[in-house]
Amino acid sequence: MTATRVFMVDVLAAHVSAPETMLEESVTEFAGSQSTLTVDDLAASRGDGVFETLAVVDGRVQASEAHLDRLVRSAELLDLARPHRAQWRYALDRAARAVPAGRTGVLKLVLSRGREGSPRPTGWIAVSSAPSAVPERRTGVRVVTLDRGVSSTAASESPWLLLGAKSLSYATNMAALREAARRGAQDVIYTSTDGYVLEGPTSSVLARIGGRIVTPAVEAGVLPGTTQHDAFVALDAERVETAAEPVPVSALAEADAIWLASSVRLLVPVVALDGRPVPQDAELTDRINAVLLAR
Ligand code: PLP
Repeated sequence: MTATRVFMVDVLAAHVSAPETMLEESVTEFAGSQSTLTVDDLAASRGDGVFETLAVVDGRVQASEAHLDRLVRSAELLDLARPHRAQWRYALDRAARAVPAGRTGVLKLVLSRGREGSPRPTGWIAVSSAPSAVPERRTGVRVVTLDRGVSSTAASESPWLLLGAKSLSYATNMAALREAARRGAQDVIYTSTDGYVLEGPTSSVLARIGGRIVTPAVEAGVLPGTTQHDAFVALDAERVETAAEPVPVSALAEADAIWLASSVRLLVPVVALDGRPVPQDAELTDRINAVLLAR
């Protein structure tokens, strides 16, 4: 996806009380091809920063407060300065207005530690358009399980691994997707060394097992998924039992539906796991995706 517009954000300290004019002046718009990032920015040289990807549907930024909550949490895990929520809220709204009418937009919000040696973080939002049709919501994806090489207790025992932070260091996540492609699949479910389900490289995992829909709890070192959260709210409204809890990999064999959930693709059914077909519930998938799209 190529950014059509970029909004550079002159990052404010969280405690600054900023009137509207100050917010306006802190955000500068560029054409995607004109924005610049210096080569000594730690985002570029070390992947040292955090990000969020948000969808814009019918001009609305979806689940913006939940994404801001996670931005704050990720920044805390990386010892970055606390983000100024009002500033980012303003910048997101402004960026959303750059999405052409009738298109689904994708906002990539990035907060880096800044230039080497500088105490000032760098921030920006890149705007791009997503294809309006997401065929995977119907066709599903073939998935392989890959060992992430960490135990389900690593997040608390080794916080420096930054598990559960949406950090910019996604090279291993992209490598996992390439490995999936080599194995004839389109996506991945990471597993822990002690046999638990974790998440996808860019998604949360949901599975219906014994009539309940479960997702791995964040304590296992996964991101708190905004889409998973809102899908559970929609499922609760349908009186479907849901739970965030440890999910053993062996339990996936009993699942009568598995989904990957993320902000732009929303719920995507898993049609095969490690080569074994997985049943689907297309009606439920469509219903929950309709609720998610209407947020
Ligand atoms: N887990 C990981 C590792 C992700 O990268 C993502 C999204 O990019 C998610 C889960 C799902 O998060 P959300 O539903 O908020 O997009």
